[in-house]
Amino acid sequence: MRLELLVLGSGREVGRAAIAIKRDSDNQYLLFDYGINFDLDDKPVMPLPIQPNKIRAIFISHAHLDHVGAAPIFYVSSTPAIYSTLLTALLSKIMIADMLRLSGYYLPFEYLELDTMINNIKNISYGDTIEIDSALVKVFNAGHIPGSAMFRVEFKDGGSVLYTGDVNTIDTRVTKGAQLSGLEADLLIMESTYGLYDHPSRNRVEELFIETVKSVVEDGGIVLIPAFSLGRAQEILAILADRMPHSNVYYDGMARDILELFLQFKEYVNQYQLLEKAMRIFTAVKGSDMRKQICKENGSIIVTPAGMLKGGPAQYYVKRLYSNPKNAIILVSYQAPQTPGRKLLTEGVLEDGGPRVKAKVFWFDFSSHAGSSNLVEIVKSIKNLKKVVLVHGGEDSAYTLGYKIKEATGIDFEVPKTGDNLVLEF
Ligand SMILES: [Zn+2]
Ligand SMILES: [Zn+2]
Repeated sequence: MRLELLVLGSGREVGRAAIAIKRDSDNQYLLFDYGINFDLDDKPVMPLPIQPNKIRAIFISHAHLDHVGAAPIFYVSSTPAIYSTLLTALLSKIMIADMLRLSGYYLPFEYLELDTMINNIKNISYGDTIEIDSALVKVFNAGHIPGSAMFRVEFKDGGSVLYTGDVNTIDTRVTKGAQLSGLEADLLIMESTYGLYDHPSRNRVEELFIETVKSVVEDGGIVLIPAFSLGRAQEILAILADRMPHSNVYYDGMARDILELFLQFKEYVNQYQLLEKAMRIFTAVKGSDMRKQICKENGSIIVTPAGMLKGGPAQYYVKRLYSNPKNAIILVSYQAPQTPGRKLLTEGVLEDGGPRVKAKVFWFDFSSHAGSSNLVEIVKSIKNLKKVVLVHGGEDSAYTLGYKIKEATGIDFEVPKTGDNLVLEF
């Protein structure tokens, strides 16, 4: 089989996932994800364009904007077939609507196109197989966030491809690790975000995190935990519900809407009872009076977006909490360069020339991406594999991982750039 692979985004870069594949003999592509990134000025960066009439069907792996954020563009003038889990569809609607609210001016589509897209999504579940002409597409759990999927394409006359999207192999409070048993594919298109590193064990990270939160609370300080609204915030709430159920925990912003949505999808949430408990015993923040009050309540814990302190209610809280050395700001996700979160970690300020932060600052590695060794394990677990294409990772990260894979398995790899058109033969 000769397979054509268009890298429309995520080539030697994290995010902006957009990969189109077709056999030589086909006229149209299957498109996996169509995500958006943001540049240093916070302007959206679209993937490379592809004409809607070149697309046979779109598969969305999960609802993070770097995988679904650009997809409404196809619904300006047409309605290509699109598939995702129901939870991914509902989360995508929340995430993209929020992006339109904040950056709509710079985007080449509006709410109308978002609505058209969401209404066109055909819902799929783990284990389903969808027939598209001569291809069968099977859906697997990717373990990254609730509802996230990997797709395996099998062409009826031979040849198969597995697209991982973002993937995690370990169980967390909110997700069960990716389903890897019994997988077979000729070609693997895999993310490589953490090709350079392994994460510490989740149990150890949780342990240190809880110790830290407890020590601040016992000392009478307030703990601010800026967390991504989709996935991380709910994981932190589940940990707190399990380990510190008697503390005063508040959650704010979109973290609240998404927690409510997760609770409607028991099949996609690992420790569902803990999320239910978090919802029952912790307090959702409603309105600015309540926010003001919480900032005076010694010993309280606030979980809120944005995860890098860029926007969201976290911005409000941090301004009121940063100057008291008894308080703590606990970062629980990746901090991109130039964000207030990164500046806080590296320079002890929230913005250039800003006042020094006196509150204690911590960072914990709660990643939802597989670490380097786990990515190699994924490759090892796939039967009859002939080639690996590494995307969604920086150049160093993808190449380092590629050589590790080659050494461990003998399988060849490619690290395409965005804009490359690979022709692969099996
Ligand atoms: Zn991603
Ligand atoms: Zn993701």
